[in-house]
Amino acid sequence: MSVAHTGGACAVCYRAVARDRIPSMNVVVCVKQIPDPADPGSLDPQTKTLKRDGKLILDESDSYGVEMALQLVDTAGGGEVTLVSMAPNNEVSGLRTALAMGAAKAVLVSDDALAGTDALGTAKVLAKAIERAGDADLILAATESSDGYTGTVPEQIAELLNLPSVTFAKEIAIDGSTAKIQRQTEAGYDDVESPLPALVSVTAGVVEPRYPSFKGIMAAKSKPVDEVTLGDLGIDAGSVGWAGGGQEIVEVTAAEEREAGTIVEDDGEGFNKIVDYLAELKVI
Ligand SMILES: Cc1cc2nc3c(=O)[nH]c(=O)nc-3n(C[C@H](O)[C@H](O)[C@H](O)COP(=O)(O)OP(=O)(O)OC[C@H]3O[C@@H](n4cnc5c(N)ncnc54)[C@H](O)[C@@H]3O)c2cc1C
Repeated sequence: MSVAHTGGACAVCYRAVARDRIPSMNVVVCVKQIPDPADPGSLDPQTKTLKRDGKLILDESDSYGVEMALQLVDTAGGGEVTLVSMAPNNEVSGLRTALAMGAAKAVLVSDDALAGTDALGTAKVLAKAIERAGDADLILAATESSDGYTGTVPEQIAELLNLPSVTFAKEIAIDGSTAKIQRQTEAGYDDVESPLPALVSVTAGVVEPRYPSFKGIMAAKSKPVDEVTLGDLGIDAGSVGWAGGGQEIVEVTAAEEREAGTIVEDDGEGFNKIVDYLAELKVI
């Protein structure tokens, strides 16, 4: 199965077409910095959005994209991984984790006018940040984030940058100026090919993210983070934030409490009770 290139007149695409082989890979990875799921804080009662005023960490969903990008650069034998993130209060903690894993540099967009930015607004900002990051052969994101998970940002970025987009990648191999992607499906996977540059969203759990080494952590402290505002990216503040939002959170309800599990005492016939239970659930 091949993915048709949706691109029209696009300077980035012409560059890829003109190159037969990519001797090195420059990969941009979108990384979201989120409140620690172990201590997520609270919702703002007025806006019903998550308060993001404390320390933010690297979203685990994005650690897979970072790992995959580092492996692709290693395989290519050259190039680098650049991170892009949009986060409040010039937060860099999550970025430093990904830099400690081995990414070379980052672009961080932080601006008070971004409060209330919805998924499309986020995509607009990240698209500009990706352009600022320089020539990318491949752009990776997670399939969905852990805190917001609309699962729409990567495809919106692709549309805004006029790039082909492939979702749910479990494996990516580069062959010249083509990405060969195994795209996870309910039944198994599809083999998909896409011209580069492309935007690919990566399924969680498909690679083992490396632990940052002590050397990596020390090196990350001095790696460059280009901190930019909306003005630096040429984005009109009225097109993002609360003013530019097309989404509104109208209601928030508590998740259902988990029910207590069933304990099966094994009196020698325990297996029958388990079989009955599974039959009741209609799983056998
Ligand atoms: C009405 C509304 C108000 C909001 N208000 C705020 C606010 O005040 N402050 C705030 O910080 N957020 C706010 N958010 C959330 C924020 O805008 C989300 O980042 C955005 O909606 C993306 O949604 P998602 O996490 O569902 O993305 P998904 O599409 O689930 O994310 C998929 C992947 O895209 C990439 N990605 C997504 N977001 C980012 C990001 N910010 N940086 C880098 N990569 C990213 C990651 O790789 C991520 O795994 C608001 C959202 C809504 C709907």
